[in-house]
Amino acid sequence: MNGRLYLCATPIGNLEDITLRVLRTLKEVDLIAAEDTRHSRALLAHFDIHTPMTSYHEHNKYEKAEQLIRKMQDGTQIALITDAGTPAISDPGEVLAAACYEAGIPVTSLPGPCACITGLTMSGLPARRFAFEAFLPPDKKERRRILEELKKETRTIVLYEAPHHLADTLQELYESLGDRRMALCRELTKKYEEGIRMTLREAADYYQKEEPRGEFVLVIEGQNVKEAEEEKQAAFAEQPLREHLQTYLDQGLDRKEAMRCVAKDRGCSRREIYQALLSEEEE
Ligand code: SAM
Repeated sequence: MNGRLYLCATPIGNLEDITLRVLRTLKEVDLIAAEDTRHSRALLAHFDIHTPMTSYHEHNKYEKAEQLIRKMQDGTQIALITDAGTPAISDPGEVLAAACYEAGIPVTSLPGPCACITGLTMSGLPARRFAFEAFLPPDKKERRRILEELKKETRTIVLYEAPHHLADTLQELYESLGDRRMALCRELTKKYEEGIRMTLREAADYYQKEEPRGEFVLVIEGQNVKEAEEEKQAAFAEQPLREHLQTYLDQGLDRKEAMRCVAKDRGCSRREIYQALLSEEEE
């Protein structure tokens, strides 16, 4: 019988946030794979858990996944814990979960603390639709591409950032996205937890002068939906009408359907598109 992988969420600052199910699972499994065994030893000692541990981190995530898979194929039950929060959210847990699926090993995720959701829910910004970007990529080109995408993002944006990069990232975000409402969620669930509502510009200015301390989640309001729609329509309006229509015809749509799509893109009626095409033909 195959073993199973249990993704166990652990506290992001407050030990009381561990769930009863995670505690029971950590006691019952054969092995705990931990991102940093030294750090996790303190957590396990606090809860009187003595299950054997092995390391699973960014620098061994592929080779070690293979070893752990072999163990699970031999029937070993493994729990994965990361430094804090929900495994697979912006940490190597996602590699192990994917490898389990490849190998036909069942994966269970035990819900619990996650900085993204904790920050989003306390931000007071719209939480119904959101885009979680985790850390912006360090590669400059890739970073620019993501920032370009985020400019047009109408959902609330949630980002992670380390304190030593915070000031530069806030400045970059302000320059790319413009001034928007945001919440800086700091030291979540810890003694000095703060949810500071500012605008991107205020936050960028503030951290040019103040040294950021602790862990941060940035929650930024998305682009205004009406504004995004107007920008999209303005971009379409610059394209010659026939060319615009042709892109849909090339996708295999019939003329009527293509005209409907063009009308929707340009924020007008199909009849108006029809008339405009007719008058272009007459010219
Ligand atoms: N797996 C984790 C989760 O479920 O949230 C995230 C891991 S990621 C490597 C670490 C980042 O999460 C930190 O740099 C910070 O941006 C955010 N974070 C973690 N704990 C936090 C806390 N207590 N307060 C604010 N942000 C936190």
